[in-house]
Amino acid sequence: MSMKVELLKNSGYCFGVKNAIDIAINARKKYPNKKIYVLGMLIHNNYVVDILNKYGIETLDVSLNEYQEAIKNLECGSVIIFSAHGHDINLDKIVKEKKLIKIDAICPMVQQCMKLILNALNKNQKIIYIGIKNHPETNAMLSINKDIIFIDYKLPFYNQINTNDNYFCINQTTLSFIDLYKIHNDLKKITSKITIADEICKFTRNRQEEILNLPKDVDGIVVVGSKKSSNTMRLYEMCLNKYSDCIILFVQDEKEVNLDKLKNLHHIIVLGGTSCHINQLENIKNFILNNAR
Ligand code: SF4
Repeated sequence: MSMKVELLKNSGYCFGVKNAIDIAINARKKYPNKKIYVLGMLIHNNYVVDILNKYGIETLDVSLNEYQEAIKNLECGSVIIFSAHGHDINLDKIVKEKKLIKIDAICPMVQQCMKLILNALNKNQKIIYIGIKNHPETNAMLSINKDIIFIDYKLPFYNQINTNDNYFCINQTTLSFIDLYKIHNDLKKITSKITIADEICKFTRNRQEEILNLPKDVDGIVVVGSKKSSNTMRLYEMCLNKYSDCIILFVQDEKEVNLDKLKNLHHIIVLGGTSCHINQLENIKNFILNNAR
């Protein structure tokens, strides 16, 4: 029987990723002679880091607790781009002190979450934020107010919630909707004084829904992307949970594809998160078709 290899229908960059890349490239056009840096990865994909390098835009790929130091070490007057995930608002002070030119490539959907948090704070609601610990987006949101209650999506505990306060609950945009709804249900059992915003972005949700409804004959799945990418990791976890009978690989590029595992399969789906370019997926698909049969 011949091998079929297909991409997920919902594939390629999302709007927020395209937006961030455009902003970075336009920064180079606007400041042709300046040093330009991105704090952390603009989006979690090395392919994009390489593209930015070609434009002379350097990625400061340091961990979150090194962000302050990294900015302090930049030359005065250079350009700093903040990533699509948002950034710790306390960094703005250092940017000002160093007289850096700040360009914010935050995704509008993440920005919307910030606005919702500020609105709720103005109404004296207590904020509950559900997210991945030490992810830049979570860090950005928690920086808005020191009293935000953080619920670790991977290890939820509810001991900080009491029944006297009014809560507003919001979440990181790239979580699995299945796991998020379990946490929402737990919270609703603890208190009725809670308003819940479901802020999983539609690009993330569409992919998750498609994954939950793959054709019955699929016997192999290749997830392409970086393990730093939250939405890609959630897709991978969903595949592992739902398709335990399938061969499932997680790869960054062709070099990591284990062809032996794919030989003799009949229907393989190649998929990527919202930070994975469609060309990366096509390359993997063609590599499998040319070498695994
Ligand atoms: S996945 Fe959604 S929230 Fe994240 S950058 Fe893309 S559009 Fe924005």
